[in-house]
Formats: sequence, C-alpha cells, structure tokens
Amino acid sequence: MKCKICDKGHLKHLDSAVKDYISSDEFELWRCDKCSSLQTVGDIQADYYGQAYYGSPDGKFSPLTEKVFRFFHSLKARKFYRKFQPESVLEVGCGRGYILAILSKLGCKVVGIESAGAADWILNNPDIKVHGVVDGELWPVEAQSVELVIIWHVFEHVTEPFEVLLEMKRILTADGAICMSIPNVESYQSRLSLPNWFHLDVPRHHFHFTQTGIEEILGRAGMKVVRQEAGDFTQNLYGWFQTLSNMMIPGENNLMYRFLQGGTPWKSVNQKSLIILNFILLPVIVPLGLLGFSLELITGKHGTVTYYIQSTE
Ligand SMILES: [Zn+2]
Repeated sequence: MKCKICDKGHLKHLDSAVKDYISSDEFELWRCDKCSSLQTVGDIQADYYGQAYYGSPDGKFSPLTEKVFRFFHSLKARKFYRKFQPESVLEVGCGRGYILAILSKLGCKVVGIESAGAADWILNNPDIKVHGVVDGELWPVEAQSVELVIIWHVFEHVTEPFEVLLEMKRILTADGAICMSIPNVESYQSRLSLPNWFHLDVPRHHFHFTQTGIEEILGRAGMKVVRQEAGDFTQNLYGWFQTLSNMMIPGENNLMYRFLQGGTPWKSVNQKSLIILNFILLPVIVPLGLLGFSLELITGKHGTVTYYIQSTE
C-alpha cells in the first residue's frame, strides 16, 4: 500500500493491534518506510463518532469541565485574532463553533466546514454558518476569499488529507495562512506506549503524522510550514496523564477522560469502579506526567504540534 501522505514510501504493517476505546473494535497501524507516518487500517465504515464521543448537544464534557474547555477555546480564539487580525476566517471541523463564535463577535466574517454526517445540532448552529460537506467534494466557498483557515485537531480525522489541503489552498487569499494543530506521533508520550497513547484515538484518527510526513504532503500541495510551536498545553499535559493511566489500568482506556465527559461517554464505560484505582494512582501519574511534559517542552517533541502554513506559489 502506497503512503497517502508523502506519496513516495510504502506502508508496512506494525505488529501490535490497537483498540478503539469506545467500541473495543481492533485496528491495524501501518508505517510508511519513507516518511514514517502511520495510517490506521481496518474496517472503518461504521460510525465511530456518535454520542459516546461527542457528548450531548449541551457540551462535550460535564458542566464544570466544559467551562474550563470553553475558557481555553476563548483564549485560543483571541490569540488567533491578535496574531492575524483576519477579516475572514474558515474553520475546518468547527464542531460546536466556539472559536468561530468568538471571532465573529470580534468582527471577523466566519464560516464553518463540517462533515455532512455530523449531528443536526452541529450543522444547524444558530450563531454561525456551517457547511456540511462530503469527503472529496469541493466546499461551497469562493476561491481566494478567506484570510485565515483554522484546522484544529481535525486533519488527522480526514480520509483524504491531500484533497483537504488543496481545498484549503484554493479558498485562501494569496497571503492567507492555515493554522493546523495535530497530534505528534514522534512525541515521547506516543513512543512510551503507542497503543495506550491518548492522542492515537483509532479509528477516528486515520493518519498519524511525523514532521517529515507533514512537510512532504505540504510540499506536494505547494505549501510549506512557516512556523511551528507546541500545540495546546492542555492537550500535551493531559496526553501524558491519560497515557500513563491507560498503561497502569489495562482494560478500560481513557477512563479519566470519559469520567470528565460524564453523560453518555461515562455511561458507555463497562468497568466504572476502576475509576477508584485511577484516583488512587494519581499521586504517581501526576508527577510522572509533569516530568514527561517538561521533557517534551525542553526537547520540542510535544504531544501535539501547531503548524502555521502558507502557499509557496
Ligand atoms: Zn510516507
């Protein structure tokens, strides 16, 4: 199988199978012999999203965690505004549209792109225009009309990443930029235990990019990274806590995460009593996680990375 990312290498099957923490279905990971990126392989036709992943229309998390989650989203939206002061913004995979709603209040013209299969309450957002699209189709957005494209923890979810890049490039103005945040399969938290890595999230994550992989796919699309930095510190730090917890408590992956989500995600956990063990282990998990997080900060091998991308043509 040829690598869809670099289009140069071929994929080789990795030995260990990996499991979806929600459905318990197993998948394979294949690695490219040129760019070292990974691809999730298996029967991914079923809907692996749904309420056990998204939570309820009110939020992805229980009320208190949701407040923290939204607070960090508002910080991020303001950072985008300060950095780019864009007149127009498009977010690919905008979900509930928290970031776009804030940018809209700040005076930007905003539009969201979501999968046509997303829930009605995502597609019919009362505050912002959201287009539901099918993979591989052109988006109903004019060429060269958007100054800033945000794609935040979404690029790893798409089945045709190269086509999505071309589409983002088509709608960008000549000096426009893309802000892309993705998990980093070369991080230490990933290397510690790939099947237990919080940001692996198979089969929803189809691709697991290396730095070389990102540079290759961008190069093919006539684009390049102009700046890169650590992804959200919450994602990077939490990635450590949850990965360590997954390693120490086999059987129920992402237990703490689902506990924090509450609602349907927590209801779908079979062995709920294991959460007690998780709390007992926190005095071990937290210091180890902080240590790993610090190591990633020093070496730049962050759990998630943010790329600022522009066209080279
Ligand atoms: Zn490759």
